[in-house]
Amino acid sequence: MYAKTAVILASFALTYILLVFVATAWWQALPLAVALGLTIVAIGFNIMHDANHDAYSERPWVNRAMTMTLDLVGGSSHFWHWKHNVFHHTFVNVIGYDTDINLVGLGRLTPHHRHVWFHRWQHLYVWLLYGAFALKWQLYDDFRLVLTGRMAEHSVPRPRGLQWVVFFGGKLLFLSLAFAIPLALHPIWAVAAIYLVTTVVLGVVLAVVFQLAHCVEHADFPIDTDPGRMDTAWAVHQVETSVDFARGSRAASWLLGGLNFQIEHHLFSRICHVNYPAIAPVVERTCREYGILYKHNTTFLSAVRSHYNWLREMGRAPILAARS
Ligand SMILES: [Zn+2]
Repeated sequence: MYAKTAVILASFALTYILLVFVATAWWQALPLAVALGLTIVAIGFNIMHDANHDAYSERPWVNRAMTMTLDLVGGSSHFWHWKHNVFHHTFVNVIGYDTDINLVGLGRLTPHHRHVWFHRWQHLYVWLLYGAFALKWQLYDDFRLVLTGRMAEHSVPRPRGLQWVVFFGGKLLFLSLAFAIPLALHPIWAVAAIYLVTTVVLGVVLAVVFQLAHCVEHADFPIDTDPGRMDTAWAVHQVETSVDFARGSRAASWLLGGLNFQIEHHLFSRICHVNYPAIAPVVERTCREYGILYKHNTTFLSAVRSHYNWLREMGRAPILAARS
């Protein structure tokens, strides 16, 4: 993990320096902006995600320090904890809690969302929405959360004490890196264009990889029959709402920070992701033993196809979907 962290953070720093201080032509800046977006994705998947789950290190201060890599790249680690660890992990795929399945009416990801006529094209346009996801997160969502203290239908605590320093310090650092420093050296249109390319790459990859684990065919979308209480046992709920993918790919496992092993991650989120390939066969055997369906897509592309099929199925009017 330490070696991996060093490689990823060095790639991020090097790409940023080349992009802001060295590149002088668009054909140099464009691939560097794409690469920068991918290094930010790698920070999120491999370093921040584990650290926020206390799975990066046995030392709490190391986890806290690594969590702040998210603030460095424009997201609040405080609010991520509530969005991801509390609401997503506790209530996977449950509407009203898990904001990962909430596309504010612009898309329909679960059978429990209201169908609107334009959803029939969502399998085509939703990828563009994913492109706006990181920009909205970096420039709007966290500030809205600070002002309203509301996440979907729930209140979330605002930062306290030192958390305020991390929140505002992080935003200031990010805005300086993304806008203030580049604007001192480059014209405003170039800074805006490069920011857009970087953030669209970041948004699409982040959103797609998270969706491949829960918003695909064969994933369950249970609801809380009693407010805040599920009918199924916690571990069964985690397995039934998650689907692994590309388990045999060493490249996927290294680059995606174990997010291709979401069943294992949801059951053992405090275990560092580098262990998931070893744990997966044990989990699969145990699920079989207890009659719980363990689902996985063989490759990254088959998982993308499954997400596409799911979007198309959810985009049909419910009556038509029932007939077909
Ligand atoms: Zn997680």
